Amino acid sequence: MKRHPETRAIHEANLSATSAVVPPIYLSTTFERNFDYELPDGFLYSRADNPNRQQLERTLAMLEGGETALAFSSGQAATSAVFQTLQSGDHVVVPDDAYYGTSLLLETLFKGFGITFSKVNMTDPGAVERAITSATKLLWIETPSNPLLKITDIEVVASIAKSYGIVTVADNTWGTPLLQRPLDLGCDLVMHSSTKYLGGHSDVMGGALICKENSGLAGRLRQIQALGGAVPSPFDCWLLIRGIKTLAVRMKQQASNAGALAEFLNNHPAIEQVHYPGLSTHPGFAVASKQMELPGAMFSVHVRGGKSEAIRLATRLELFRTATSLGGIESFVEHRATYEGDNPVTPQNLLRFSIGLEHVDDLLDDLARALTVL
Ligand SMILES: *Cc1c(COP(=O)(O)O)cnc(C)c1O
Repeated sequence: MKRHPETRAIHEANLSATSAVVPPIYLSTTFERNFDYELPDGFLYSRADNPNRQQLERTLAMLEGGETALAFSSGQAATSAVFQTLQSGDHVVVPDDAYYGTSLLLETLFKGFGITFSKVNMTDPGAVERAITSATKLLWIETPSNPLLKITDIEVVASIAKSYGIVTVADNTWGTPLLQRPLDLGCDLVMHSSTKYLGGHSDVMGGALICKENSGLAGRLRQIQALGGAVPSPFDCWLLIRGIKTLAVRMKQQASNAGALAEFLNNHPAIEQVHYPGLSTHPGFAVASKQMELPGAMFSVHVRGGKSEAIRLATRLELFRTATSLGGIESFVEHRATYEGDNPVTPQNLLRFSIGLEHVDDLLDDLARALTVL
């Protein structure tokens, strides 16, 4: 019987030169040649490759069902590597509701190199098709989206891109390979901020790209990784491998907690609206049920009122940390508009929640209590 990803994530990430159950960390920046002046294990210099990184990359490829994977020092470094495969004159289609940093990267860094982009509502496949021009080389998908939890039908949108010969990338940070597998649905690349659920403990930055095929594009990305040098340290890789071993159980429990909390808030008079793809009232419910194993552990809400009501709720909560980021075992609440600076696109009464592994009754209690002081 073919073993499940949960089992393989635990048992395959070993580098046992000894009988140690837990892999060692290879801090060496360089690797010695043998008597024939060859590299016996294929490692030359740690910017190009390192045993811990190779182990992480193999685990990521296995989880996403890709032929090869590349680890980076952050999610943004991974995204940047994808954009670096483009040339002046190329055009990118991105979601109108993607991680803030994705389009900011195009706007502030890549526009200067002659790369243009359009933002579209990807819940509407017609809009995606209309945004494609003869210069379009890349389609970026992010689902569920940040922070409105919009759901893109990956299979439909990826097949549109394919019919135009456009490379499709899915940011699968929120879904994780345990809940959603974009490569199986027609995407060419998956991108992760492994800072989030893959690491899972808010203590390591990382990014990853997983390639469906070990093709020319994968080779180009490997050049960018090694030459650009935005690589994770051996310890970062080690922490990520450790985090990934518990990804499946974390995701199941965090999604279960999130479902209960979203339901509670959806029925609360102080909350105007809840965006969670697990609620049958969510516009993306049907597509999410089709392409996701579980609806995930992220949701956002519109607090009745404005910025001050939203901030008051966020700061009266005791168990939810008022910090940016997500995907950790601790619950987070964030006022996204504050994070977005002077011209926020996110509404002022919106709070984004990342639900952790605390006992669900304690989280419900904390929310119920904080909502009484609004
Ligand atoms: C955090 C995040 C990123 C950026 O990743 P970093 O690790 O912070 O560089 C990209 N996409 C999504 C969906 C994210 O949540």
